Amino acid sequence: MKYKIIPVTNFYQNCYLIWCKKTFNAALIDPGGEYKKILNVLKKYKLKIKKILITHCHLDHIGAAYILSKILNIPILGPHKNDIFWLKNIKLQNKLFNLPHCIFINNIWLKNKQNIFIGKINFQVYHCPGHTPGHIIFFNKSNKIMISGDIIFKNSVGRTDLPKSNFYVLKNSIKKMTFLLKNKKDIIILPGHGEKTSFYREIKNNMYLK
Ligand SMILES: [Zn+2]
Ligand SMILES: [Zn+2]
Repeated sequence: MKYKIIPVTNFYQNCYLIWCKKTFNAALIDPGGEYKKILNVLKKYKLKIKKILITHCHLDHIGAAYILSKILNIPILGPHKNDIFWLKNIKLQNKLFNLPHCIFINNIWLKNKQNIFIGKINFQVYHCPGHTPGHIIFFNKSNKIMISGDIIFKNSVGRTDLPKSNFYVLKNSIKKMTFLLKNKKDIIILPGHGEKTSFYREIKNNMYLK
């Protein structure tokens, strides 16, 4: 598995281009805006972009998804259907995040423990509400990589001051995921904002999880 981070919007949202080294099949995770910048990156790699995956329906994560799905002729998968509030309230999001209007229509909502494939790479979906009600993460067991969206960051966690968010639900969602830390093997966290971290490090040091 290989990946490239494409930071987009004023929120420096990490859009991930992820691909399988064997098949060159690829996916975009959370293309939150600046679709031209994303297309320019895609030009540099000879990949077969098969799908767009979404962790949650905040505008900084979905802003360029629909236009890219049309240009590249690929489906949008995710997040969990409990994020429908944010999908229906794009105008509210324009004000909240001060980001431009966009259309967002996904093809499939994803369910807890559903499996997604990018070429030969498997990602398991986990429903992790709290930051938004329908937030999901993508976990790749063989490489021990978690694409965590906005649930957890290096030394921080996702905002819970927004409508439909809840700090205790979020904290509980994160703690539930510790079952993934089997045999003391750590997990790399690729978050929606900021630099990568590790799950064990955050469980130990992140003051929001105390
Ligand atoms: Zn968010
Ligand atoms: Zn975000």
